[in-house]
Amino acid sequence: MRNFSFEFFPPQTAEGMEKLRVTRRQLVQLHPAYFSVTYGAGGTTQQRTINTVQEIFDEGLEVAPHISCVGATRETLQDLLQTYRNLGIKRVVALRGDLPSGMVEAGELRYANELVSFIRETFGDAFRIEVAAYPEYHPQSRSAQEDLINFKRKADAGADAAITQYFYNADAYFSFVEECAALGVTIPIIPGIMPILRYSQLARFSDACGAEIPRWIRRKLEGFGDDVVSIRSFGLDVVTALCDRLLQGGAPGLHFYTMNQAGSISTICQRLGL
Ligand code: FAD
Repeated sequence: MRNFSFEFFPPQTAEGMEKLRVTRRQLVQLHPAYFSVTYGAGGTTQQRTINTVQEIFDEGLEVAPHISCVGATRETLQDLLQTYRNLGIKRVVALRGDLPSGMVEAGELRYANELVSFIRETFGDAFRIEVAAYPEYHPQSRSAQEDLINFKRKADAGADAAITQYFYNADAYFSFVEECAALGVTIPIIPGIMPILRYSQLARFSDACGAEIPRWIRRKLEGFGDDVVSIRSFGLDVVTALCDRLLQGGAPGLHFYTMNQAGSISTICQRLGL
């Protein structure tokens, strides 16, 4: 069965929480397998992530908190996982995270594979674990081959599935999945999908996380200037075509980076007939 999921960030204000409730009411109609909630590395959003996760869980929905190990100790990670276990949470997205500027303590676990091992050692199979994958390779990796081996470490440590960084080039995804299979990594690798809503924000994100916006897409978006209607319309065409190709090519599902907005994603799912 194909697995569709939606990612939120924890809102900072009561108004943001209310907006997210409206978004959720729309997205729930698409019957996702689960919602996930991001976590500010170094614990910067910890309580907001917990509150958002709890609210979604209390609505009877499946929810997966993201957890990152950078800047954390084993003890704080264990406490956080225990909090989620007490709430009744059964899945987490396990990440290394990036050290927030100004924070110098790297923490006790260096990489996400160590976090996956730690969760398995301390909580056994209490949580389903998703990890991150990078079809265009992680920006800090020394080589594509090393990054693949590092990804394999997370699967070997006990991850159940992976969600990719977003990308707009389907061939990068298919090639990555093939290379993983050749290394014996068989966990499902779910493409992460970023809708195109605003060009400047997307360009900034993409530069930071190493996701490529193909030149033809960049040029088109630049040409639209401030014309948000054209950006949205073009973005919908590009992203729907990408999702369609991924699903036709055998992707085991899609994970949408919603930016806490339902509009574009509902349209994409409708166009895909999901
Ligand atoms: P890792 O898998 O640890 O990899 C990080 C780097 O280290 C890679 O270059 C890898 O090749 C290298 N590496 C890994 N293991 C080893 C090893 N054993 N020895 C040597 N090198 C190694 N960030 C947040 O702060 N909060 C979030 O909620 C969040 N959610 C995300 C969700 C998804 C689906 C994705 C794709 C990313 C998310 N991120 C989030 C961003 C993520 O934290 C960053 O991309 C971070 O830089 C790497 O995290 P990771 O878990 O992939 O790290």
